[in-house]
Amino acid sequence: MTQQSMGEWLATQADIRAARGLTRQLRPRAHNDPVLDLAGNDYLGLARDPRVVAGAVAAAEQWGCGATGSRLVTGTTQLHTDLEQALVEFCGSARGLVFATGYAANLGAIAALADADTLIVSDARNHASLIDACRLARARTVITPHGDVAAVADALSHRSEARAVVVTDAVFSVDGDIAPITEVHDVSAHHGALLVVDEAHSLGVVGPGGRGVVAAAGLEDAPDIVRTLTLSKSLGAQGGAVLAAAAVVDHLIDTARTFIFDTGLAPPSVGAALAALCILEADAELPVAVRSQATRLGRGLGVDAPDAAIVKVPVGDPTLAVAAAQRCAEAGLRVGCFRPPSVPEGGSALRLAARADLTDGDVDRAVDTIRRAMAAVA
Ligand code: PMP
Repeated sequence: MTQQSMGEWLATQADIRAARGLTRQLRPRAHNDPVLDLAGNDYLGLARDPRVVAGAVAAAEQWGCGATGSRLVTGTTQLHTDLEQALVEFCGSARGLVFATGYAANLGAIAALADADTLIVSDARNHASLIDACRLARARTVITPHGDVAAVADALSHRSEARAVVVTDAVFSVDGDIAPITEVHDVSAHHGALLVVDEAHSLGVVGPGGRGVVAAAGLEDAPDIVRTLTLSKSLGAQGGAVLAAAAVVDHLIDTARTFIFDTGLAPPSVGAALAALCILEADAELPVAVRSQATRLGRGLGVDAPDAAIVKVPVGDPTLAVAAAQRCAEAGLRVGCFRPPSVPEGGSALRLAARADLTDGDVDRAVDTIRRAMAAVA
């Protein structure tokens, strides 16, 4: 085997990415820049809400800026317990466990719930954190075509493993569509599988009062469903959580590596998430407002807008997608631009996230800007 230096390999890899239009840029974001932002996931506009900021400040003053260690080592603060209780009460679940991020919640939960004698069935469009979680679990994983419930049933019925875990996003992070949870749960339950649902993009947006897709299906009490959440989108903070039956949460406390070996969620994030949850609980109109702005965006652009927050504008070619996003930025509009590996080859797209605090005028301006940008690069 000819040896290659790491420097040569890095240069070759950079050339390959450049040739495929997949080089990524870290663009500066100015403090209080006047841009209209449809790229972030701050669905309820709470990340800068003074009540949420005050929650973070009060938590920092009382508990400090960092959790100082794993909660199993330096102790669990009352703040963390309060957030777990608030999430459990809001979403309707037996128990909850907070993690440092939504990514860590997915890695920790799935790797702890599946082993060599477990089959994992995972939707082809699941988020990277779920994909990585399946890999970490070292269980045989069947990837089923997107939204194909019959394929899930087929994989489950032909398994040789003793146990099975079905994994799906509730709202898919790029396409924005909603998983057919009732059907997926029926099939999972029929085959004795545990269903893990990632509610990252549905909490605060979908379901009664923003309680998510599982709650919308009336399945909050199902003991065979595990929900994962992020606190970094509609709650405007940072962190993640798992909601599940008591036996599952006890198992995670003992075995989930991203819970055991990761520093606990920083107190300011816990305080911010608690404050945001209070605001959401008190105002059931917030999720309605996000969804209605997503509908307005989709209608204006002539694309499908599922009854959630994310609107996808297909472009196809990654270079054209970057050029369209760049034109939007020059016109004062920030949009998400998704290229492989975040989407399949040929599936590059602009991703727009509606927010509850957008005005109709904001949305109409965004539609006009995107239409012009798409026409210019076509
Ligand atoms: N799940 C999904 C579906 C996501 O989109 C994301 C974030 N993009 C995560 C999990 C990870 O959440 P966090 O950012 O809190 O780590």
